[in-house]
Amino acid sequence: MREKAKTAIGGGAKKILYTLKTVKRIGLRESAKALTAKNTCKACGLGMGGQNGGMTNEQGDFPAVCNKSVQAQSTDIQQPIPEEIFAYNLSDLQDLSAHELEHLGRLNTPLFKAKNSDKFVPITWDWGIRRAAEQFAKTPAERSFFYSSGRSSNEAGFVLQLLARLYGTNNVNNCSYYCHQATGVGLSKTIGTGTSTVELADLDGCDCIFVIGANPASNHPRFVHKLQACRARGGSVIIINPAKEPGLVRFALPKSPKSLIIGGDEIASHYLQPHIGSDIGVLKGIAKVVIEGGGVSKEFVRQYTKDYEPFLVDIKSTSWSEIETITGIPQSEFELIGNIYQRSKNTVFAWGMGITHHRHGVENVEYISNLALLRGMIAKQYAGLLPLRGHSNVQGIGTIGVKPVLANDVIKNLERELGVSLPDLERSPGLDTLASIEAADRGEIDAALLMGGNLFQATPNTSWAEKALDKIALKVHLTTTLNKGHLHGIGNSESIILPVAARDEEFQSTTQESMFNYVRLSDGGIHRLDNVRSEVDVLTHFAQHLFHFRQGSDAKEISFDFSAFRKHSSIRKTIAAVVPGMEDLKSIDVAKKEFHINNRIMHSPVFKTTSGKAHFRVHPVPKSTSSETYPFRLMSVRSEGQFNSIIYEEKDSYRSIDKRWVVMMNKKEISNLGIGKDDTVDLVSAYGEMGAVSVHAFDIPDGDLMVYYPEANALIGRDRDEESKTPAFKSVAVKIEVTSKDTKVENE
Ligand code: SF4
Repeated sequence: MREKAKTAIGGGAKKILYTLKTVKRIGLRESAKALTAKNTCKACGLGMGGQNGGMTNEQGDFPAVCNKSVQAQSTDIQQPIPEEIFAYNLSDLQDLSAHELEHLGRLNTPLFKAKNSDKFVPITWDWGIRRAAEQFAKTPAERSFFYSSGRSSNEAGFVLQLLARLYGTNNVNNCSYYCHQATGVGLSKTIGTGTSTVELADLDGCDCIFVIGANPASNHPRFVHKLQACRARGGSVIIINPAKEPGLVRFALPKSPKSLIIGGDEIASHYLQPHIGSDIGVLKGIAKVVIEGGGVSKEFVRQYTKDYEPFLVDIKSTSWSEIETITGIPQSEFELIGNIYQRSKNTVFAWGMGITHHRHGVENVEYISNLALLRGMIAKQYAGLLPLRGHSNVQGIGTIGVKPVLANDVIKNLERELGVSLPDLERSPGLDTLASIEAADRGEIDAALLMGGNLFQATPNTSWAEKALDKIALKVHLTTTLNKGHLHGIGNSESIILPVAARDEEFQSTTQESMFNYVRLSDGGIHRLDNVRSEVDVLTHFAQHLFHFRQGSDAKEISFDFSAFRKHSSIRKTIAAVVPGMEDLKSIDVAKKEFHINNRIMHSPVFKTTSGKAHFRVHPVPKSTSSETYPFRLMSVRSEGQFNSIIYEEKDSYRSIDKRWVVMMNKKEISNLGIGKDDTVDLVSAYGEMGAVSVHAFDIPDGDLMVYYPEANALIGRDRDEESKTPAFKSVAVKIEVTSKDTKVENE
């Protein structure tokens, strides 16, 4: 392994104090109410809360206090943004940082910005919704798109995609096109399902967990408890990540006094640090050890898989020198890891966006699947595949149809159940998220409805994205707080911003799906603001006005009455009737019985591929993205103080960095480049620049760099994985120019 573990740890007293401070800031009563109510946690996709009560998981574990969860609550429990703020010009508002915007308060009034104005003005709800509907009604449906983040509920997502399709477009997409779409595509091709094959309880019986291209210490904090428990029962936790993340080396569990006293528990039993983008090389190396060591589960492979022979030939013909060169990891380390895997009875493979954010994201996922199939580690209890999903309902939003392509059976069910006809997918295939913005750039989009999220900042190639978004004549946003996505890319266009209730403020219950395919029921019901509406209410009124305005126009008449969906329970009944696996949603609000979606968790070898077998896939090891002109590989990463593009605090406490305009590289590279104590650097890619960036020494391989997302989007182009359309946020070729001498270099 490259370097000895650092002394910095994740979790622990620092996080407890942070949580205390945040709780005090928002008030003990308010915090307790929000954190313990029967609502799904608003942050990561691991899933917590729901009918078991806040801070409790589906196994009944309590209390599962989590810093991320507290952060997410902290911005919802804010006073309304004072209306005086909107007297300022757009350019003044644009000067606020993401952190400052998030902390302005909650949005509690609908806002309008006219095309040629540089100010937002408060408007009434009625005027805002009618204006939005009127403008959409004038727009040919194919010149629009509809987007949802993973914050919204299944109920709101279902209405959004239905109204878009009845309006006449399949341009329906969600934020997973910027995160785990490659996972869905890769898993569907190899094992016939697009989501986790394990449930939370499976993590209690495995003896080995691989965590690849993910930093759960910051992004899925409660998952680290499962890693620690695996170690405590003698199992192995193998982290594969170019960066040595302190929170994955040691983590002090806030729930465990012992863990706090001893300065944290060791999390990683083994830590591999390959070069950025070399994952296929790593996975081939481990597979090579298993094959050469006779560890293949031959009976499983023979009975339940296809295309093993070409895979075997490829692994045998891939030389150790090729693997060592591309990954930067010696054969001896592969042998160590391969032998652990070979001895394991039950292994779980978990991964994050370090796997999907590459031009070969789908291929990366397919190789994780290959490695698991090799030893029959899919389709049994305590073993399987676990994509670590980001937002709390990003998986649910996809399940209920917020995506450009619906499965044929879902289309048929919808048409039958509602008596409607949906736009033909062959004649008008929907656009994915990035393709929608590219269409806008070509002048082909006039209207967009954006439910949650921060599409501007989430999109690669920031300056291009801003111009492209501004070419959309009208953008309608549904949001709880303001972010840069509401303020950029709107200078020459019209914008309507509608304030909506947070999950725990919903007026009726809503549902969410975790990354373990577990559907939770959130009661809502907390009253904080007097002028917010539920997303379903906004969308159904918008739809009614839209189709009313369209009557008599050339557009086809819509017979469906959206007022029928004002009741969330009727939306759930429809979802239950049309989406396979969601049957139990029908009565969830009455039975209060949360459930795993049928046929997702794989505890037996039934593969829903066309052949009925799992498929091995073969691909060459991709070449490094670096070149003579751009000799460094850069990946964008999240900090401890952020969630997706939301910046809760500027500081990254686990990495001991107190600002965000920073590049992380190893000490040797800093010295090779002659970067002095007070120097800053410019980072330059083929797509953009980041100027005067501070330098922070970090344990990462030679030639590899890390920069915070979304700031790094200035450098990231629109290269993408062609199969899944996931942008390559983590394999960017850059050069470094040492510039000024006005910022201190911070040391580890
Ligand atoms: S691990 Fe994720 S789901 Fe669980 S409490 Fe923390 S942020 Fe919420």
